[in-house]
Amino acid sequence: MKILVVNAGSSSLKYQLIDMQNEKVLAKGGCERIGIEGSFLKAKGNGQEKVYEKAMPNHKVAIELVLHALADEGIGVIKSMDEIGAVGHRVVASGEFFKKTTLVTPEVLKTLEETFELAPLHNPAAATGVKACMEVMPNTPMTLVFDTSFHATMPEKAFLYGIDYEDYKKYGVRKYGAHGTSHKFVSAEAAKYLGKKPEQLKIVTCHLGNGSSITAVDGGKCVDTSMGFTPLAGVLMGTRSGDIDASAVEFLARKKGLSHADMITYLNKQCGVAGISGVSSDFRDLEAGYERGDKRCALALEMFSYQTKRFVGAYAAAMGGLDCIVFTAGIGENTPIVREEVCSGLEFLGVQFDSEANKKKNDGSIREISAKGSKVKVLIIPTNEELVIARETAELL
Ligand code: ADP
Repeated sequence: MKILVVNAGSSSLKYQLIDMQNEKVLAKGGCERIGIEGSFLKAKGNGQEKVYEKAMPNHKVAIELVLHALADEGIGVIKSMDEIGAVGHRVVASGEFFKKTTLVTPEVLKTLEETFELAPLHNPAAATGVKACMEVMPNTPMTLVFDTSFHATMPEKAFLYGIDYEDYKKYGVRKYGAHGTSHKFVSAEAAKYLGKKPEQLKIVTCHLGNGSSITAVDGGKCVDTSMGFTPLAGVLMGTRSGDIDASAVEFLARKKGLSHADMITYLNKQCGVAGISGVSSDFRDLEAGYERGDKRCALALEMFSYQTKRFVGAYAAAMGGLDCIVFTAGIGENTPIVREEVCSGLEFLGVQFDSEANKKKNDGSIREISAKGSKVKVLIIPTNEELVIARETAELL
């Protein structure tokens, strides 16, 4: 079966068509500037790339164009839409409304609306993407695959905030986590690589990208994660502050004369390593700054690595042991200095790091960067969230 994976944003729609027989990506691409002047689709297939410049006033037109590209001369990989067995949609937040991958029905779409206020930028866009696909492909089964599902196994003691329990019950304010598909994928890959069953392993997975989260995976299940009610929590990120005392937020808002909403925008967009370095949110720029002696770039890298290390230690304690640390995503896969800093000083946990192996260039394969004989294995595993969405969709069907 061929499965179309769709990741719809407010003005974008990314997709991959995956052949589940061999899990090969047949085609992929993305529409940008949907609803804005100058919209285009960049599509890849058959080893070729083509750019379609076409007005896309809405997601329906975008998905129609994607289907056209999938069957187009030259880059096309299917003869007709009927070859697409199902569509898996990525959804950022589930709240407590959905615990696992769910088949789309009109009722499910209604419930999805309840989650909008949990992820106001992402979930309405995902719903728009689902509806657009349903209009264009009314007979194709569709699923919702949530970033938060993998974290549904967290125990109450891990996901609750220290607030009035009744308020948690009434408003659903608790930790939900994010990047679940990635944490699920890399922890399963780690077990496979180590030749063990997931049940035998205590793993800390570090998804370090523009948004970063660290997860404790005990016996194949998430028991804690660093992101919270929203992806603003945990370590500082590209432009997000990460964890901060709520009183400092109120204090800063007053000093800067910002409303609640503006303060949240500030914490999401103007903080993190971009705020600390004053240079960039991109770790390639921070590395370049560090190399030319920029102290604040060095500080931003230090803070990011230190905070990540702190979660590794905390989660080793939470699980009562540690067998493996996994690095993944843009920074996790490509930034040796961060991996080295995170793992330095963890010998007491049984981590013996191999600095030379760590410095080797990313070739897209799984790499072991712990020294031979290290009690705790340290692995770099390229993430593949689209494949997880396709697998979940195939499994459900
Ligand atoms: P997201 O998917 O959340 O946008 P990514 O996982 O793509 O984020 O990570 C982006 C981060 O990874 C950026 O800070 C970028 O600097 C860093 N990075 C470092 N080296 C590379 C590289 N070779 N390719 C892509 N990202 C890289």
